[in-house]
Formats: sequence, structure tokens, C-alpha cells
Amino acid sequence: MRLDRFLAHSGFGTRSEVKRLIKKGLVKVNGKQAKSPDLKIDEDKDVVQVGEEIVELQKRVYIMMNKPQGYVCSNDDPLSPTIFSLIPENLKYRNLHTVGRLDKDAEGLLIITNNGEYTHKVISPKKHIEKEYIVKLEKELNREKIKVFEDGVVLDDGYKTLPAKYTILDDFTVSLTIYEGKYHQIKRMFESIGNKVVYLKRVRIGRLKLDENLNPGEYKVLDELDAFSVF
Ligand code: URA
Repeated sequence: MRLDRFLAHSGFGTRSEVKRLIKKGLVKVNGKQAKSPDLKIDEDKDVVQVGEEIVELQKRVYIMMNKPQGYVCSNDDPLSPTIFSLIPENLKYRNLHTVGRLDKDAEGLLIITNNGEYTHKVISPKKHIEKEYIVKLEKELNREKIKVFEDGVVLDDGYKTLPAKYTILDDFTVSLTIYEGKYHQIKRMFESIGNKVVYLKRVRIGRLKLDENLNPGEYKVLDELDAFSVF
């Protein structure tokens, strides 16, 4: 891994900030002053220091949250509280981000991590990871019209969704499984068949189910085994 990447991932700032540290001569690799940000280092063997501090590569962290309604998934928002305000300082690694997003009015399973590769795999439609939602509707479900979801339905912007699976739970409630996460996807899917989503909760990603002991707003740290059970 490049030295500047290693330092940025370990919480020493953005790429340009860590480059400045290197330029100032503050970074040592195996006791020798590092001259170049593109120096290749082996994060298991090489000892990297910034000043006197020995740098440890930022540990991977995976958090399961039961996202409450009313919170947004972005890092900061001028108008609404963000889900990061529910996470204590000691877990707030610099690069923490949500694995996909849930709308402000949606709730349920949200994974938060600092592992970008993991996120990419979970949200990529190519990986075909299931995302299951409980959906409540304003109007009684039209059991004929919803059948188009099985092949893919054309949304208001012309995009045709991948085939989805569903189970009708009652006249107003559906369990819907999709494999992608387009903007407001489920709301737009139901709009396209003349209905409206009034409640949305994600309950599962791959094999990882929302822990129903978590109240909205609560979270727990997952071990790698649980986090990777998504795949
Ligand atoms: N589909 C939506 O419309 N909203 C979400 O938050 C997730 C899926």
C-alpha cells in the first residue's frame, strides 16, 4: 500500500494533508525519514511513525444500526440530525460511512463501516445481494399490478429495475426483496403501479438480519464473521 494511503486510512488526514506531513519530514518508515508519498509499504511488516507515534492501520469496524425515522444517512446535513450523531466519539473513525442509504423517513437495518471495499461489494447490483424491506402502502395493494416487479418495472426516469421478489403479507403490506439501491427505488416502484409507500423498514441484507432487540436509534458492533454473513 502507498504510504500516503496508509496514513490517510489511519486517520492522519486527507491525502493532501498526509503528503504535507511527509514533505515536512515528520514521517519515518523503519526508522528512516520517508521522502515520497508513493513509497510502497507492507502494512504487516513495516513500522511507520508520525513524529514519535507508531501508526497502526485503522482497524476495520462494522456497525449494525436500527436506523430511526427522521435521521439522514449523510455525514452532515444543515436541517436534519444524521445517523452519525447516534454513534459515540470512540467509534467515530474518520472514514466511517453508511453501506448504502435509507431515506430520512425509512427505518431499519443500516450497516456503517470504514471498509470501502466491503461497501462496494454489498451495494453493487452485480453481486446480487438481497435487500429485504417491509413496505406499508397507502392504498390496498393491486395484486395484479405488482406482478410487474417480478420482471422489472420501469421507473419515472426510464430506468428498468432488476427483477425483484415479493411476498404479500396483507392487503396493505408487502415484503419486498431487491438487489440494487436506486434513489427512492421502492417508493418509485410502488408509484409506478399507482400506490404510495407510507412506511418502509429494511429488515435484511444478504443473510444478515436486523437484530430485533435493537430499538430504533440503537446499534451494535458486528464482528467480521457477522458482517461478512451478508455475502
Ligand atoms: N427504497 C426507498 O424508496 N427508500 C429507501 O430508503 C430504500 C429503498
